[in-house]
Amino acid sequence: MCNVVIIGSGPAGLTAALYSARANLSPLLIEGWQSGGQLTTTTEVENYPGFAKGVMGPELMKEMRAQAERFGTVFKTGDVTAIDLTTRPFTMTVDGEETIEARTIIIATGASAIPIGLKNESRLTGHGVSTCATCDGFFFRGKELVVVGGGDSAMEEANFLTKFARKVSIVHRRDKLRASKIMQDRAMKNEKISFIWNTVVEDILGTEVVTGVKLKNTVTGNTSEIPCSGVFVAIGHRPNTTLFAGQLEMDTKGYLVTKNGTATSVPGVFAAGDVQDSRYRQAVTAAGSGCMAAIDAERFLEGIGV
Ligand code: NAP
Repeated sequence: MCNVVIIGSGPAGLTAALYSARANLSPLLIEGWQSGGQLTTTTEVENYPGFAKGVMGPELMKEMRAQAERFGTVFKTGDVTAIDLTTRPFTMTVDGEETIEARTIIIATGASAIPIGLKNESRLTGHGVSTCATCDGFFFRGKELVVVGGGDSAMEEANFLTKFARKVSIVHRRDKLRASKIMQDRAMKNEKISFIWNTVVEDILGTEVVTGVKLKNTVTGNTSEIPCSGVFVAIGHRPNTTLFAGQLEMDTKGYLVTKNGTATSVPGVFAAGDVQDSRYRQAVTAAGSGCMAAIDAERFLEGIGV
């Protein structure tokens, strides 16, 4: 029987592990087959406090994991394939085999940026293709960039990127934006931003790094190529919550609803990081909420006399 089982090994999960290990709760962290979360797919992280010279995403995650391990976190590699939150102790199955019992659970399964789905998109991720302007915009000083999408994220990313880029082209598949009026206005007033309407990205060009995109007009069917050094895909995020469907309260987009800190709709189950946050989605905010979840779990255990 575990006091705390943490599902997910990004900044939220590992910080929850660090705090609950230091509270002597002997946490078990299930880290999935792709350990480390979204930061392992980025290159240099320059906005995580405490690293004046920046730190590589995978290196930061390695250090966070080692820090959690140092205080006694036990790691288990595998995917949680089933979970029962209807009675306590909660039970879950890892990789369809081993059953684990837990007094409390911290869910930190994160979210995944929705990809366009192009072969060269995954190949060039981290080499010009990005899903996070806040993380990677700085590397494109004076360059020409493409942002894909027509929602608030795309407008926000494009505006942010104009701090660095010479020119930002927003490629949108329709002739109307989905973004809120205020975000649209801000993007349209920005002289560095131009719009390419009724257009989809058909391919991302470049051998080692991005050099351009191949576009297709959805109305005429015409294709064209434009040069650029970076492609920021902002067509939405998907929280990794399928496993909890029907058991935990979610919003209309599938993000876990948390109240009073990190409490989910089931007492004893807490959520931290991107799985419950569609707004900030930063490593540092995820880590902060991981700390909150550990403290919430500790207080819950105290309350039930553990
Ligand atoms: P979103 O609102 O779902 O918008 C996604 C955009 O990507 C849409 O314009 C959509 O086109 C386009 N798209 C979807 N799939 C595509 C594909 N396969 N190929 C090309 N284009 C595709 O997602 P979001 O912009 O990430 O926003 C998510 C939520 O966070 C929203 O509720 C938003 O308001 C909120 N948010 C708020 C702020 C803020 O207030 N500061 C900032 C960011 C996000 P269509 O329009 O044709 O469907």
